Amino acid sequence: MTLDLAGVGAGPANLCVAALADGLPGVRCRFFDRQPVQRWHPGLMLPGSVLQVSHLKDLVTMVDPTSPYTFLNFLARTGRLYRFASLPRQVITRREYESYLRWVAGTLPQVRFGCAVEEVTFTGDAFRLATARGPYTATHLSVGTGPVPRVPEPVAGMLGPTLLHSADFGYLPATSVRGRRVAVVGGGQSGAEVVEHLLGLAGDAAPRELTWVNRRHGFQPLDDSPFTNEWFHPDYVRYFHGLAPARRKELLGAQQLASDGISADLLERVYRRMYENDFVDEHRVPCAVLPGRELHRVASTVDGWRLDLAQCDTGAPETLRADTVVLATGYEFRLPEFLRPLADRIPVASDGQLALDADYSVPWDGPAGNKLFFLNAGRHSHGIADPNLSLASWRAATVLSSIADTPWDAGATTSTSRWASTVPHETVPHETVPYETAPHRTESADR
Ligand SMILES: Cc1cc2nc3c(=O)[nH]c(=O)nc-3n(C[C@H](O)[C@H](O)[C@H](O)COP(=O)(O)OP(=O)(O)OC[C@H]3O[C@@H](n4cnc5c(N)ncnc54)[C@H](O)[C@@H]3O)c2cc1C
Repeated sequence: MTLDLAGVGAGPANLCVAALADGLPGVRCRFFDRQPVQRWHPGLMLPGSVLQVSHLKDLVTMVDPTSPYTFLNFLARTGRLYRFASLPRQVITRREYESYLRWVAGTLPQVRFGCAVEEVTFTGDAFRLATARGPYTATHLSVGTGPVPRVPEPVAGMLGPTLLHSADFGYLPATSVRGRRVAVVGGGQSGAEVVEHLLGLAGDAAPRELTWVNRRHGFQPLDDSPFTNEWFHPDYVRYFHGLAPARRKELLGAQQLASDGISADLLERVYRRMYENDFVDEHRVPCAVLPGRELHRVASTVDGWRLDLAQCDTGAPETLRADTVVLATGYEFRLPEFLRPLADRIPVASDGQLALDADYSVPWDGPAGNKLFFLNAGRHSHGIADPNLSLASWRAATVLSSIADTPWDAGATTSTSRWASTVPHETVPHETVPYETAPHRTESADR
């Protein structure tokens, strides 16, 4: 049997597709994941770490709040709805989000774990997947294998037990931290989480020295303000996709803090922790914060690692010595190995990015009736919302609407901002109280 859609990876991106497709009659699909069970970024599952988006941005709610796969239904089915509602702040820990993903995946028979996709070829009218559990064919393919850890050029090929990406921080043995000089490179959310964790280690478990290096000029909060959040609305994504590539690139730079900043709570906790470490704690861990430093070279020495840095403003060289180096240097898109047989049929730009069509398919050199979708690979084409969970359900609905009849109004949107003059005006519901008679409107409110 040829499937309508095969998904590679069952992280949040493809799980959204699986959950929404479950309600669609006549769409035969399977999703394959190489992990034995659903795990969500297990190497950075630090105690107490929380989701950065509202629980409304779960796998389905923003498209279909009536779906059985909402986070609220998960709470209800697992007997914790009232308890959750009584929590002072309704943030979700990453551990609970992982439980939710596992609950959804476990409910959907179309999702198979322990099943790596090893190679994808094209037969002429279908994709053929060689998997750990035999071959499958599918008319359309949805690649949701997630971005991969970005390793800076000077460190390429050098990773090992004491020089590692933050994606593997959770596997770092305590002996590589206890009494050691630890350097954390990278000033985004992951870097801040690692630093907070290391500063929280007490007594013997603590490092001997801690240094936090950041190429950016400072450590800035995530911009989570309401108008900025409209960049995470479907109408903005459509607008962004229609812009010229050079303008999109400029905007991505200008909007960086909306996706790559550090959540304000965490930033404050780290700052307070450093204050206590420096002035209150009995055993102080010498701690240096180095913003505006570029990593130029890393070399192995007889007693650990030597990091050659350059001060970004002056170019002045600096040397840092460490026993353990954690690279919190982010993630990037890379064409997965299993697509190698199709690589010369997929247009990849010189900067390694894909130019995705509006429906998240790539204009590949194959029949138009066989769509090749990439989820979480469209930052350059669809904007900063793409790697984020906020629009993952809408993206999944867009994918499904491109290959099947779907009941959702994926075009509906209620943004305050009008990004283009073509956006219609009738987004205000008719029952809205007219401006002149709104009860709370006063002269002073206008100033
Ligand atoms: C630590 C961390 C925390 C984050 N927290 C947030 C947050 O709070 N809010 C937010 O909006 N965004 C967050 N993000 C960003 C983003 O939402 C997540 O990275 C999200 O998991 C991306 O989903 P994904 O499905 O694209 O990729 P992934 O979650 O990486 O899933 C990819 C899946 O593909 C599977 N796979 C890979 N190769 C194969 C293969 N060959 N065959 C079969 N399966 C394969 C993997 O096993 C994996 O399960 C976070 C990112 C990180 C790294």
